[in-house]
Amino acid sequence: MPLSEFELIDRFFRDCGARRTDVRLGVGDDAAVLECPTDRQLVAATDSIVEGVHFPAGSSPESIGHRALAVNLSDLAAMGAEPAWALLALTMSRADEQWLREFSGGLCALAREHGVALVGGDTTSGPLSVTVHVLGFVERATALTRSGGSAGDAIYVSGTPGDAAAGLALAQGRLTVEDGADAAQLSRRFLFPTPRIALGRQLRAHASACIDVSDGLLGDAGKLAAASGCGVALTFDELPLSPALTRAVGGERARMLALTGGDDYELLFSVHPDRIAALHGALPPEAWGYRRIGSLRAAPGAAVVRDGSVIDFSHYGFDHFA
Ligand code: ADP
Ligand code: MG
Repeated sequence: MPLSEFELIDRFFRDCGARRTDVRLGVGDDAAVLECPTDRQLVAATDSIVEGVHFPAGSSPESIGHRALAVNLSDLAAMGAEPAWALLALTMSRADEQWLREFSGGLCALAREHGVALVGGDTTSGPLSVTVHVLGFVERATALTRSGGSAGDAIYVSGTPGDAAAGLALAQGRLTVEDGADAAQLSRRFLFPTPRIALGRQLRAHASACIDVSDGLLGDAGKLAAASGCGVALTFDELPLSPALTRAVGGERARMLALTGGDDYELLFSVHPDRIAALHGALPPEAWGYRRIGSLRAAPGAAVVRDGSVIDFSHYGFDHFA
């Protein structure tokens, strides 16, 4: 007998994520009732992932659940916010128990890890698509934004961008990687992105502007720069690359993927020159996993500099694996 909607919600989503004392009423009533702190600001974000658009059909349910929440937490990380609550709007063609167990397993584990309680949602039938809303807090007037940078600020990025794009290409059969451990690592960076919540929280004290890298490092650096009323120059040879990616596609393609591949969910941020020493002292780059890759500058647009000259990206095709 198929699960009823009530059973499904009760079994897989009622006790999902962290237990929080600020949840007066969670899953089960017409709406959730939540205690808001009076000394902090509420930060809200939502993002959808759709089968065949944001993840390949047949992806592991655990990764879909993880990803649906992770991409939202990444937006809160970019604001320097501490996540608290989430809502889930789930559309699926049929209620498959095994699928739902794995999906909720992935989503609820990440929620617990970040102290997030799932407090409500909606369940409907249709082509697979997952929308999550997240709510969190930030100390008054300390939220990071895209617009606080100035020409001369240093630009940094966390993690090893490009891995997720290679992981997606692997899932789609556009890339083969001989080494099994490298293939697994790259796949994992696509399927299980890591929202950089702890780094975002710390950056409130150091960064002038911040954005999460979801659509490609170069494009997102351009968005931060434009919002800050300036341009950005990135240094081709400073891009942080994982050894797995370099081994899999070679240094040249690895850098192109790092610049233009999507789905990294890393933080890209700017720091005023006067604050660089304090940043490096408080958050050692190797320990926190970030690196300087360029600077904001007055000239508008996003440029990549290699051996002193600007790389023209119009020569590069869309599909780096063709
Ligand atoms: P209503 O018809 O009043 O909107 P529903 O029957 O859709 O209520 O939902 C009942 C309860 O279950 C609500 O508290 C709702 O927030 C919660 N809920 C429904 N679907 C989900 C889901 N996928 N994840 C978490 N909570 C859900
Ligand atoms: Mg209702």
